Amino acid sequence: MLKIQNLTKKFGGVKAVNDCSFEIKKGMITALIGPNGSGKTTLFNLVSGILKTDDGKIIFDNQNITNLAIEKISNLGISRLFQKPSLFKNLTVKENLFLAINEQDTKFWSSFVKTSEDKSDEGKIMRILKSVEMEKFIDTNAKDLSYGQKRLVEIARAILNQHKFLMLDEPAAGVNPKLREKIKKILLKLKEKNETILLIEHDMNFTLKTADIIIVLEKGKVIAQGNPNEIKSNPRVLDAYLGA
Ligand code: ADP
Ligand code: MG
Repeated sequence: MLKIQNLTKKFGGVKAVNDCSFEIKKGMITALIGPNGSGKTTLFNLVSGILKTDDGKIIFDNQNITNLAIEKISNLGISRLFQKPSLFKNLTVKENLFLAINEQDTKFWSSFVKTSEDKSDEGKIMRILKSVEMEKFIDTNAKDLSYGQKRLVEIARAILNQHKFLMLDEPAAGVNPKLREKIKKILLKLKEKNETILLIEHDMNFTLKTADIIIVLEKGKVIAQGNPNEIKSNPRVLDAYLGA
């Protein structure tokens, strides 16, 4: 579904992404792990068009999307959750989610909202909030939510956004253990529904339990990839990532 080919991105003298190549398969959760500063978020920014590449190609659904405009990439069905909080704090949860609904393009409604029930925007918003157990907060201002609750609404928004491919940058970072469990369950439910997800996550246990494939980055390069069992026992990974 997504092919990263020899991608490079420099910031001054630093190669944040360095001749990086990998593939993401449909219907799977692929996790991108690696030490702080290994280029994970930069890769997300390149795929979603926020940053321009210096070299290499990004192919999505057999289409070259390298350096396309952000809106074009989003309209092709790539939705993302940002590492940093990004709700409008003076808008309610409902208003924030309304903004995610793209009127003209409903080709890729996620399996969570694609049903014959209430097809109104409000119906979709209610359903998505129920799926993350946040329906009670529909009329709450974003600024009155806890950090973890904001995260859940942001995840709901990323899912609600029309998409074929979901990129989540550290969805469970900084939230309490109970909420982490909840986010883990949401991810597994999404996997059951055959969603294709690229996940950045720091917690190795969380990653091992949710991902089908794990890709390990170091200094902007892929140093290992495989299923959780292969990654768990890879000496290079233990050294570069777990040892750190
Ligand atoms: P990760 O998400 O894996 O922690 P990042 O992709 O955020 O890593 O960062 C990779 C490297 O690129 C780091 O050395 C970081 O300091 C640098 N970097 C990231 N974004 C910028 C930017 N906008 N300007 C300059 N340097 C950046
Ligand atoms: Mg990051």
